[in-house]
Amino acid sequence: MRFPLSMTAGMASYIARNKFRPNPEWQKTVVTAPDASNPFRIVYTHTGADRKPHPMINKRFPLVLMLEPLHTCNLTCTGCGRIREYESTITQKLSLQQCLDAVHECGAPIVSICGGEPMLYPELGPLTAKLIEENKTIYLCTNGMFIQKRLKEFKPADKFFFNVHLDGMEKNHDIAVEREGVFREAIQGVKAAKQAGFRVCTNTTVYKETDMNEIEEMFEYLAQFKVDGHTISPAYGYSSVNDREIFMTRDDIHEKFKTIDKLADRFPLFSTPTYLEFLQGKRDYPCTAWGNPTYNVKGWKGPCYLITDGHYKTFEELMNKTQWENYGAGNDPRCDHCMVHCGFEPSAALGINSKLGDTFKLMTWAFR
Ligand code: SF4
Repeated sequence: MRFPLSMTAGMASYIARNKFRPNPEWQKTVVTAPDASNPFRIVYTHTGADRKPHPMINKRFPLVLMLEPLHTCNLTCTGCGRIREYESTITQKLSLQQCLDAVHECGAPIVSICGGEPMLYPELGPLTAKLIEENKTIYLCTNGMFIQKRLKEFKPADKFFFNVHLDGMEKNHDIAVEREGVFREAIQGVKAAKQAGFRVCTNTTVYKETDMNEIEEMFEYLAQFKVDGHTISPAYGYSSVNDREIFMTRDDIHEKFKTIDKLADRFPLFSTPTYLEFLQGKRDYPCTAWGNPTYNVKGWKGPCYLITDGHYKTFEELMNKTQWENYGAGNDPRCDHCMVHCGFEPSAALGINSKLGDTFKLMTWAFR
């Protein structure tokens, strides 16, 4: 089975509940002027009648909270927008209570702890312990370099995953993270965590230069450590990352993922089969960015994990003041080539634009 049964069942009932009875406090639309002080803000080019309506615009609720307790990192990865966008607040961090308040405020069943490098966050042990106690599913997204050092601060649990960032085999991963030796340390971390009884998955970003044969080689290599699963997503062209060369167009992404089925057959991919079909260009989804809200030292980041047009004090404000209809391919040029999991996995999980046979496909995937 790909995920613990309690996780699959809990998620299914959470989605059904919220689809049937969405929280009315999150469905208001408050029109506000864009934040003129935001350096990454652009003027919308698609307005009015040419916008595509979103089928769940009045049923907004979060699935995965992207919690960033801090933006400090020991690395300067080529494709990372965080260390660039949050340079002025890079030394700040959320308190443990602020992290917990954000989790409670939005109520998402899955918490992805990211950053920065969350393993540099001093209160990480108590934070994960509290989230486990509250029956949350936790993905602790890390470059893996501090796993061995801090492992004693955590306890294994069914719904707690170390999610280790690996973009290729040793040579290319170390180039992507701009430091030699990172791959080897991450692998030591994976081994140590598995030996101590933790669940471990990996997280791979696919760039223009990525060779998918190398990703297959990496999954083969990781199989010996009994890694529990892999998430994979195309890179997104952050406004805050200058190097446009590394990012892909939608056509590039379709081409890159055309053989992903072969990997999905051989390895436990955590990405849903319907999302993978979207990456292959076999189906279309609207962006459902509210499904993956982000909270950090500046507040609730809107509209999404990737682009920032504002930060809000409360989750309710994020849900109501973000002009959701302005985003997504065809609505905002910044979104035109975006196919990242944080915008589109929620669309797949919610069954938007579903086809006959999808339920069977998803059940087979979840229980395999
Ligand atoms: S498509 Fe969605 S997730 Fe992607 S950049 Fe636009 S708003 Fe963000």
